[in-house]
Amino acid sequence: MEIAIIAHDGKKADMVQFLNKNTAILQNEKIKLVATGTTGSKAEKAGFKVKKMLSGPLGGDAQIASRVAEGKTKMVLFFKDPLASHAHEVDINMLLRVCDVHNVPIATNEATAQLLLNAITMKL
Ligand code: PGA
Repeated sequence: MEIAIIAHDGKKADMVQFLNKNTAILQNEKIKLVATGTTGSKAEKAGFKVKKMLSGPLGGDAQIASRVAEGKTKMVLFFKDPLASHAHEVDINMLLRVCDVHNVPIATNEATAQLLLNAITMKL
């Protein structure tokens, strides 16, 4: 099962903490992680194996949306920073829409991300 991780700059530290807290689930052999560029680099530094897309502002969110549309990515954990504005807001909205179109769960804050991961743990 492919899970995408995206974290805005203001949420990257929280995202790394979240990954570390969920190592047991996320390092399960049935889980494959993909991430936007900088988020992926941070996750790699924390010891996770991640397939990296372009950085978000350069099209990484759009690439993840494409993987959702193709049926590759089955869940998106998006650590959005609601207090910052983003040059690639249209790509972010496009990702949210594509997830809705394809009925793919997308968490936009840490609490929801945790609930989604807890839900799949029951299935693994
Ligand atoms: P980044 O992109 O992981 O490359 O920082 C995230 C984003 O801003 O969408």
